[in-house]
Amino acid sequence: MKNIILIAAPAAGKGTEALKIKEEYNIPHISTGDLLRNATKEDTELAKEITELIKNGKLVSDEIVLELLKSRILEQDCVNGYILDGFPRNVEQAIAYDKILDELNKDIGIVIVLDIDKEIAKSRISGRCSCPKCGKVYNVNREELKPKKDGICDDCSTTLKFRDDDNPNVYDERYNTYLEKTEPLISYYDKKGIVYHVDSNENPEKTHEQVVKILGDIND
Ligand code: AMP
Repeated sequence: MKNIILIAAPAAGKGTEALKIKEEYNIPHISTGDLLRNATKEDTELAKEITELIKNGKLVSDEIVLELLKSRILEQDCVNGYILDGFPRNVEQAIAYDKILDELNKDIGIVIVLDIDKEIAKSRISGRCSCPKCGKVYNVNREELKPKKDGICDDCSTTLKFRDDDNPNVYDERYNTYLEKTEPLISYYDKKGIVYHVDSNENPEKTHEQVVKILGDIND
């Protein structure tokens, strides 16, 4: 299985799609947002610094993210491929990632861009919550995405959490950061000929159908 980089605006459905790929193809889902949120649980100055940046929709420094990412992809479960969600977030990280891959003799794989209108993505943050243990994403305002039992993960019975940065003001900041820093990655990877686009405006099932088609065509 090829490694997959998911690129999309905040709340476009990267986490949801990543979990679907993980379940179907049995490769790990690596979310740098989750790695960083985990790092904030420690009682250190660095943890406080990361918490502030995330709360305000700013990017965490490349140095911290690259260190977390590199040690994660060296874990045994990544040998047959992995899905990156939230990394790289800017061209500097993409260049550093290329170097890491060279060093580890790994292939970049493919990039899947989830295309979505800003207002549709923004509307999805209202009611969004997720499982801190397995990463499954829910939305209490959408019948098809509600957990079966209020506030509890269907798959692992963990208490669901809402994110501090899922509010309309911080969303605008995160979206602007996306346009300025992350969107230029699409042309960076286009030059390598590895970019595939998917329409993520409808629902998770429609998005996933398109991804499965792309992966089927590539792996044929
Ligand atoms: P996410 O869960 O991907 O929406 O990320 C939540 C927050 O974590 C972002 O708004 C950033 O503050 C931080 N973050 C996640 N991934 C990265 C990254 N690759 N580089 C820098 N900051 C990141």
